[in-house]
Amino acid sequence: MAKKCKCGKKKYGYGDGMHEVWICYSCGGFDGKANGDEIFVQTIMSNPAMVLALIETKQLVPIRD
Ligand SMILES: [Zn+2]
Repeated sequence: MAKKCKCGKKKYGYGDGMHEVWICYSCGGFDGKANGDEIFVQTIMSNPAMVLALIETKQLVPIRD
């Protein structure tokens, strides 16, 4: 199920089985879901570049809708 950003554009989901990150490439906004792993969410919220690094290294892979 595709998610929409508050700016109206589509968000793209990435996950590793436990964590999920939904990114809007239009405005740069993103959400994290981590099934209770608050440290993960806090880390990516305070360091957005880490999300892109995790995607580049394939630790987060695209979520198929
Ligand atoms: Zn957006």
